[in-house]
Amino acid sequence: MSFELVFPDGNRKQYDDAVSVKEVAKSISTSLAKKAVAGVLNGELLDLNEEISQDGKVEIVLQNDELGLRVLRDTAAFLFSYVAKKAHSDINFGESKAIEDGFYVDTDKENQIAVTELPELQEAMQKVIKSGLPIEVDMMDKADLEKHFENDEYKLSLLKAIDAVQIKVYKMGDFIDFGYKALLPNASGVKEFALLSVAGAYWQGKSDNPMLQRIYGTAFYKKADLEADLQRRADIKERDHRTLGRDLDLFFVDPKVGAGLPYWMPNGATIRRVIERYITDKELAADYEHVYTPILSNLDLYKTSGHWDHYREDMFPPMDMGDGEMLELRPMNCPSHIQVFKHHVRSYRDLPMRIAELGMMHRYEKSGALTGLQRVREMTLNDGHTFVELKQIKEEFVKILRLMMEVYKDFNITDYSFRLSYRDPQNTEKYFQDDEIWETAQTMLKDAMDDLGLDYYEAEGEAAFYGPKLDVQTKTALGNEETLSTIQLDFMLPEKFELSYIGNDGEEHRPVMIHRGIIGTLERFIAYLTELYKGAFPTWIAPIQARIIPVNLDLHSDYAKDIKKQMKKLGLRVDVDLRNEKMNYKIREAQTNKVPYTIIVGDQETASTSVSIRRYGQKDTNTFALAEFLDAIVADVNNYSRE
Ligand code: ATP
Ligand code: ZN
Repeated sequence: MSFELVFPDGNRKQYDDAVSVKEVAKSISTSLAKKAVAGVLNGELLDLNEEISQDGKVEIVLQNDELGLRVLRDTAAFLFSYVAKKAHSDINFGESKAIEDGFYVDTDKENQIAVTELPELQEAMQKVIKSGLPIEVDMMDKADLEKHFENDEYKLSLLKAIDAVQIKVYKMGDFIDFGYKALLPNASGVKEFALLSVAGAYWQGKSDNPMLQRIYGTAFYKKADLEADLQRRADIKERDHRTLGRDLDLFFVDPKVGAGLPYWMPNGATIRRVIERYITDKELAADYEHVYTPILSNLDLYKTSGHWDHYREDMFPPMDMGDGEMLELRPMNCPSHIQVFKHHVRSYRDLPMRIAELGMMHRYEKSGALTGLQRVREMTLNDGHTFVELKQIKEEFVKILRLMMEVYKDFNITDYSFRLSYRDPQNTEKYFQDDEIWETAQTMLKDAMDDLGLDYYEAEGEAAFYGPKLDVQTKTALGNEETLSTIQLDFMLPEKFELSYIGNDGEEHRPVMIHRGIIGTLERFIAYLTELYKGAFPTWIAPIQARIIPVNLDLHSDYAKDIKKQMKKLGLRVDVDLRNEKMNYKIREAQTNKVPYTIIVGDQETASTSVSIRRYGQKDTNTFALAEFLDAIVADVNNYSRE
């Protein structure tokens, strides 16, 4: 009956009788046994007290291993379910499990557990942990479990998916749960945990399933780790553009009016207008020609372009006008710009031809994916299409890249990386077949990146079906990777729309199209900037650049209004706080609103035509002659400067 276990370091040990994971750990060292929380046998996670009686590769799972954290968090989820059941006897549970940064438990009814109840439940969990209740492991017949959960459609459905006669269950008192690979043997193992939030979640993540309620939490073995994690979460929350968007009154989205259809409030609209003007000017300087084209087009346009065949899921349904005409809200601007190109006969002298637009588009994103301004259903893309000759690709690509990097510099965006995407030559289904064109185009892009001395990551098989591309990747405050800008070569659309230009040989040729977005959509870009700056926009972008606060409304308001007038003449965005509130309150509020300059004027300032300035985020106030200050703030705006 003896069997042999092989350890990760290659050591082997013989055992005569079945041994628990814990005993295996002990047989190596007592210190290992202390930190052991589970085991892995031949790739299968085992409970600490589970017995091993067969040959295999064994590994002891320690507290801070990835698996160790998972066991802890699964246990915390189990404990949460236990106390939630005690508090709400009719509650049923969907899935509950550890995730990358914590755990969640789905409960069957919406609004069953209020967020205000979490502290109470957390305390109840603490009590169970202190009591040191054991968590027992048992095997139960599937039929008996089905009986136990007969009034719980979600558990029944989970059971149905398990193909076994006997199922491992965990018990604490009369509470039973299943579905976990391994838990800690005792409630007392979960010391450091926190319940975090409540959200809606579809049963099994499918949007046509009923909405359940999901409670999020996290757990760690060490207090310091939990504290650091809670701090990290607080930082993210502080940066979240949805919170800042509300606090700074930038925008709102109201599902009652239309999910994913943002309303830009004056402050947000100002930010957007500044950026729109900025990028338009930048493009005009780089020889782009700006156009306006309709957001509605005949559906045939998207049939020709292939969007109707390949992108229909993301498109709003067409509007049948009743007279045979079908109109479609555009999901992309490319077909529109192609019409601009086609409107005249083009010659090689016109190329590269750069057509740009702040183009509004509509995409039917899934409701579960909508996120503030970051993922919306109506968006405006800083779009541009360049039509070039094949030999011009590299030079144009470099131009676009240069423009992109200048823009990043102006916005103080430094944390980004390049991803160059090629076709997968084996994947003949996805990619159109022309080895020479692919090779030429890919090599041109690669050479251009190398010439510029830029680092990039090469992603084979990530190209669009119509050509290779370069993406600029950044990270959001939440740590999600996101594409900020993109340059895409396209050999397909010119073909489909039969584009041509007259070459210097007098013959017709097909141009290559380059799609490019520098700042992407204004929605996503402004969401990104809000998080990047934590809502403290640099002066040139800030909705209100300066706020003037008279010390005494009777004595200093005229001077304050006069300063405002002068500043407005200089094109600055400024207001005067004339409310009947205490001065310190007003100063504090200007800081909360993240106004770059707070201007305080009292007796002395009025008498000497000076101003006392408090910069955002600074404690001290400095006095300047008014003229000197005006020069400085104008310079600040013009230099796109930031602290
Ligand atoms: P994603 O993968 O994020 O859906 P995509 O690859 O479909 O984006 P493109 O078609 O390349 O995006 O869109 C061009 C630009 O539009 C990108 O800069 C992208 O960041 C932005 N964008 C795409 N979808 C949305 C959306 N739903 N809300 C806001 N911006 C979006
Ligand atoms: Zn395009």
